[in-house]
Amino acid sequence: MSSLSSSLDHQLRTLAVEQGFSQIGIAPAVTPTGFHRLLDWLSKGYAADMQWMERRSDAYRHPDSMLPTTRSVIMLAINYHDGSVRQDGPKIARYAWGNADYHDVLKERAKPLVSLIKQHHPGAKCRIVVDTAPLLERDFGRLTGLGWFGKNTMLISRKIGSWFVLAAILTDIELPYDAAEESSYCGTCTRCLDACPTNAFPEPGVLDAGRCISYLTIEQRTEPIPETLRAAIGDWMFGCDICQDVCPWNRFSPHDTVEEFEALPQRNTIDGPALFRMSPDEFEQEFAGTPLSRPGRAGLLRNVAIVLGNRQVTNAEPELIMALSDPEALVRGAAAWALAKMGSTPAFLTLQQRLLDETDDAVRMELRSAIAILSAKQQSNSSATHGDGNRATSDSNQKAENS
Ligand code: SF4
Ligand code: SF4
Repeated sequence: MSSLSSSLDHQLRTLAVEQGFSQIGIAPAVTPTGFHRLLDWLSKGYAADMQWMERRSDAYRHPDSMLPTTRSVIMLAINYHDGSVRQDGPKIARYAWGNADYHDVLKERAKPLVSLIKQHHPGAKCRIVVDTAPLLERDFGRLTGLGWFGKNTMLISRKIGSWFVLAAILTDIELPYDAAEESSYCGTCTRCLDACPTNAFPEPGVLDAGRCISYLTIEQRTEPIPETLRAAIGDWMFGCDICQDVCPWNRFSPHDTVEEFEALPQRNTIDGPALFRMSPDEFEQEFAGTPLSRPGRAGLLRNVAIVLGNRQVTNAEPELIMALSDPEALVRGAAAWALAKMGSTPAFLTLQQRLLDETDDAVRMELRSAIAILSAKQQSNSSATHGDGNRATSDSNQKAENS
């Protein structure tokens, strides 16, 4: 290794800290062992509807697929935990409490490191990768010594826990390399596996994305959330932190995030019904350029409706009734489901009325199912009170069923 490279290595590490990165590690460009795990994971269908992963699976084999002749992979981690305490109410994953999208934040903060490499090696080729390219970032995180794979599939650092996001710089120059993390420090702990409300871990260290709340509420943007998983989603309207919240390695994670990730108070005290009262323009103004824009307005309102249903927020009923006329079928269907949880007579009558007008097949199914649930509830209440069925309710339900 030339003294030039080792001096660059030292300067890169110093600059990374100045740029707000909590950790930096460097590994040679290789085919990570995780590539074969990825193929196995895809073959088992655990990627759910992320067909793009299957389509470009071979590109994950080697960083050369993104930058030909890559020799080194520099991994950078930014802690996003600012110490804010989670409030009661609809919940958002911690990484999205700030105002900025982490892809942009990490790219901007990594750029000076690329400039430094080019000062030392003017012809050097470099590429910054944050999450969207086919690179097994967590594998390279392990190879650079940043951490190990927890049973919750997160990369965990003994220094900063797992509340961090990763960026990579691929470059065709050689640098001094760090030792890979070869050990696991989970021991006999199974807290994350036990705490997952949707049983998304078929085995330790393997995630079935189709059952994970993060996937269901963020990545699955255009489909209804499967009925069987809605109750388990609980309060999570965007992502889920449970398997990190319970991890003992996060107990002492530092609270030294960069300003872009500092929590906005309104992200931790979400007024769910108010989101339904926003016009699409207001929605855009509030969330454009933030992580919460990823599922889109329809995806986010679908999630919020499910949370309101799970929490049985009866004072949200006017907004949910309004949502039955939303232009997006995804929102109308979720609102119908949530109203069934409230169980009020006005909701029941509105659902019946909407069924007469609704044209979307999937929403019609949601409406019918909600009407059936409420009808059964009303009949059982009526029987308890009068010892008899409620004739008017049965008649109007029959009318809706026939529509
Ligand atoms: S993020 Fe939530 S749903 Fe997904 S695996 Fe972790 S605990 Fe389970
Ligand atoms: S909760 Fe326990 S088992 Fe899960 S990742 Fe953390 S240490 Fe490992």
